[in-house]
Parts: sequence; C-alpha cells; structure tokens
Amino acid sequence: MSVKFSKHTILTAGILAGLVLGVVLGEVLYRAYSGAVPDGLLEGLSFVGNTFFIGLLKMVLLPLVVSSVIVGVSSIGDPAQLGRVGGWTVLYYFTTMAIAVVLGVVLVVSIQPGRGFDEAFRVQEVQQFSVTTGATQDRVEAASSIGLWGAFKNIITQLIPENPIADAANGRLLPVISFSLMLGIVLTVIGPRGQPVLAFFESLFAAVMKLVDWILWLAPLGVFCLVAWTVARIGTASLVGPLGIFMVTVLLGLMIHGLIILPLALWVFGRTNPFLYMHQMRGALMTAFGTDSSSATLPVTIECAETLGGVSKRAAGFVLPLGATVNMDGTALYEAVAVVFLFQCFGIALGPTQLAIVVITATLAAVGAAGIPSAGLVTMVIVVAAVNNSLGLPEDQQLPLAAVGIILGVDRVLDMCRTTVNVWGDAVGAKIITRIAPDPV
Ligand code: ASP
Repeated sequence: MSVKFSKHTILTAGILAGLVLGVVLGEVLYRAYSGAVPDGLLEGLSFVGNTFFIGLLKMVLLPLVVSSVIVGVSSIGDPAQLGRVGGWTVLYYFTTMAIAVVLGVVLVVSIQPGRGFDEAFRVQEVQQFSVTTGATQDRVEAASSIGLWGAFKNIITQLIPENPIADAANGRLLPVISFSLMLGIVLTVIGPRGQPVLAFFESLFAAVMKLVDWILWLAPLGVFCLVAWTVARIGTASLVGPLGIFMVTVLLGLMIHGLIILPLALWVFGRTNPFLYMHQMRGALMTAFGTDSSSATLPVTIECAETLGGVSKRAAGFVLPLGATVNMDGTALYEAVAVVFLFQCFGIALGPTQLAIVVITATLAAVGAAGIPSAGLVTMVIVVAAVNNSLGLPEDQQLPLAAVGIILGVDRVLDMCRTTVNVWGDAVGAKIITRIAPDPV
C-alpha cells in the first residue's frame, strides 16, 4: 500500500467520522437545550470550523486559483486548442446546469410540495423574515433590486476586470480567474520571454498544493465542528417538519442528477467508471458537504482530482477553478425547485411561460452565485423577481420577497447537499475534459 493511499484513507475515515459525530453532537445539543443552544457554544463550534478550517482554505484560495489557472492554461499552449477546450468546458457547464434545472422543475411540478402547505407556518416565517434584520435579509434585499439584466451585466463585468488586484483583495474570484486566463495565454504566446514568470507560477502552485496537503489534516475536526454547528441550530427534526416534502423533492433531484445523470455523462463522454471516480473524489465531496462552499473546497477538489482522480493538470487548472464559481448544477436545481415551491405555497399558479422563465433565470442565477454558503438562497430572488414580473399581477398579489423566510431554516442543510453536487459536477467536467486535454506524456 502506497504512502499516498494510506494518507487518503486515514483522511477519508476521519472526515466521515467528523460528519457522523457532528450530526450526533449537534442533535444532542439541540435536544439538551430544546432548540435554544447558547450562543457561546455555537460560537465555539463556528470558531473552530469557520475560522480555523475554512479560514485556512480561504487563505490558500487566491494564490491557488491564480497559479493553477495560469499553469493549466499555459500548459495547453496553443490558443486554438485552448479555444476548443474552453468551448467544450462552457458547453458542459451550461448543458448540465440546464438539465439540472429542468429536472428540478419537472419534480416540483409533479410532486407539488407547496400544495396545501401549512398556512400558520408560512405566515409566521414570512413575518419573522420581514421583521428580522440580518446579513441574509440585507443580501436578499440587495439582490432583488439587481434584476435579470443587472445579473447578466454583473457576470460580464466580472469577466472584464478593471482592477484585478482590487478584485483579488476583495475575494472576487471570477475576475481573478478571467485575468489569470488572459495572462496564462499571453505568457505562452510570448514564448521564451514568458518562461521566468511561468516558472514562478509553477513553483507557487507546487508550494500552495503542499500547504493544502497540510491543511487537509484539519478537515475531520473542521467538518465535525461545522456540521455540529449546523445541526445544533435546526435539529434533525426539521427534516420531517412542514418543509419535509420540499426537502425530499430537492434531495430527490440532487440524487437523480448526482447519481444518475452526471455519472452517465462521465461514462459516455469521459469513458470512466463513474463510481470509482466518485470514490477517488470522496475527500472533496465530503469537504463540500461539510463546508457548504465550492470555493473553500476548491483546494481539496484540485488535490483529489490530480493525485487520485487522474485528471490532467490542464483540465484541472482550467475546469475546476472556473467551475467552482460558475458551474453549479446543485444550486441551479435547488433554485428552480425552491422558487416554484414558494409560488405554490402562496397559491400562485405558474404557466409554461413562467416555468420557462424559471429555467432560464435559475441557470443564470446559479452562474452568478458565488461558491459560498447560502449564495444560492440570495440569488434566488432574481428568479422570483423575474417570474413576478412576467405574471403582471398587482404588487400585493405577487410573491413577497420575505417568502424566502419559509425556507431559510432548512437552507443550510440543503446547501450542504447542493454544494456536494456542485463540486461533483466540476469534478465530472474536469475528467471529461481530460480526454480532450490530456497532459503530455
Ligand atoms: N454553497 C453553494 C456553493 O458553494 C452555493 C449555493 O448557495 O448554492 O457551491
């Protein structure tokens, strides 16, 4: 048994134990304090999970994204080949996201989780959301005024960064990726003069990956604290509460997409055994589940893909960083299910036109969502606003923004699941693209 293998085996066992024990501790705390776990305890768990583990992952994120994109793109070299790889990658992202959204719409329309929804619960949650002030409320408010065109413009503007250093300093990944892509291309175009800078980024990449290796040892503890923190606040009983059928609809969709559709795509287009590959990517998938963040998971995704999954440096450097911010199958599916569900809760019927709007805007909203916790919940209001507009109802008969409050309580748990599918979608894409862009032998 190789050293690498045993390290991954130990880590897998540790992260799995962290996940299970985190649920157990969270549930014990939730019950012991009858749902009102003291803030100090919650803060302690969040401190270890968010500050130590996620904090360290975020620390390496920026140098990792810059160096992996530059190394990946420059190793593809020829701009024509790069265009081909880029084209297939973007096609893969949008096709799989569109499939996920359509699947979500079909499920939510057939299952109808919002029909006959608990009226008292609905009124109470909407009311609560309206009167509470908090970060999520502010973000929802801000996103609602962006509108569809605004969301589209926002994505394009990020692709043409005015000041990539300011973007980097503010943790905006998409502009940084866009700049790194361009830099990677020209560094190869200018030939030998680009070599010193390329060598620098290759060395930076190797160093950052080593750091990731070390940080990964904290994953079991980090995941344990994060999961305990989540479950301690909402309890596992929320799974069978009034939102039970909604959650089942989302989870069913995520399972069909993650366990049937994506594996099928990998098998057909990547000529790879999907379940073996899933096993190789397990560290990244479990980290995504525990952290709720594709971006924070990215270092682990690259690690697993390159060391265990046989993904080429070229594909990993290109597909994974871009995918972590752009390609979100789980989020797209979730947004579609959630929006239609909320309209159902309020007894507002959606026709084929509105459902088509949901399909288009949910895909766009998922692209616009950052790879951070609850981003999907926030960009969802763009979909709500677009559907409201197309219905042409007077304002008092439209779906209020505060309707988001209905699903706020269970968002974190669903976020864990959709983030896992998001990362799995990126990993599958990277493996498929490896066929088009293998590393030179
Ligand atoms: N948490 C998700 C991610 O990082 C985004 C979302 O909220 O759906 O991929």
